[in-house]
Amino acid sequence: MSTPRMKPLALITGASRGIGRAIAIELGRTHRVLVGGRDEAAVAEVVSALPDAAPFLADLTDEEAVAAACAGIERLDVLVHSAGVMGHYGPVAEATGEQWRRTMDVNVIAPATLTRLLLPALRASGGLVVFLNSGAGLTAHPGWSVYAASKFALTALADALRGEEAGRVKVTTIHPGRTATAMQEALRAAEGGSYEPESYLSPEDVARTVRLAVDLPPSASLSSLRIAPAPVRR
Ligand code: NAP
Repeated sequence: MSTPRMKPLALITGASRGIGRAIAIELGRTHRVLVGGRDEAAVAEVVSALPDAAPFLADLTDEEAVAAACAGIERLDVLVHSAGVMGHYGPVAEATGEQWRRTMDVNVIAPATLTRLLLPALRASGGLVVFLNSGAGLTAHPGWSVYAASKFALTALADALRGEEAGRVKVTTIHPGRTATAMQEALRAAEGGSYEPESYLSPEDVARTVRLAVDLPPSASLSSLRIAPAPVRR
């Protein structure tokens, strides 16, 4: 009798809520999942909803804590960077240095650091890195400078990594439009508009898109994908 093959391993950051949580639940159907987050109780709730999961607790801007959490991960099949912050909504004239630094720290430097720490484990399994970017990583509208600049930088990080790791690790960037989560609710409040979740993508829609990249055969890779809510004909 042959030993049953271990399920592949996926680590999803920002999986305590929102899009990351939906991705953890989607990949949990086929993968062992490391559920990333800072809120121990929220992470435990997601872990308990999955058949085979464990917490990955760390503030991603704390490099020592992240390195400690990564210790012992020798093979990793999928790394999904979903953790992120809006940082600041408003004109460049009002964005403070602290808002710029904090946003770049969480949205760019943290995924770069976590990727660097886990590259040996990803190479060991011919793995996939998925970056949750945004439409704002392709077009910067007034009021969005801080967030958009961080997401443009994330596009650059992903593109460079894809070339560097060609043949070893695949890299996919996903650019979702407005998605119904706490981040979007806070953003709509800052924009002075109403929050209309039925008009937005659902976190599960985005998770299904991550699934597309995960399920491709080894001979194919998805570089980037832009997804938007589809108007429903009534
Ligand atoms: P969300 O509901 O606000 O969730 C953000 C997640 O990031 C939470 O799990 C949060 O953990 C985690 N996080 C934030 N800072 C962290 C840090 N320093 N260390 C560890 N974890 C941290 O956001 P979302 O809407 O799901 O967004 C997920 C991703 O999709 C983000 O990268 C966002 O930019 C992108 N995106 C969102 C939308 C949208 O409309 N919602 C559209 C396009 C792209 P805690 O619970 O510990 O705070």
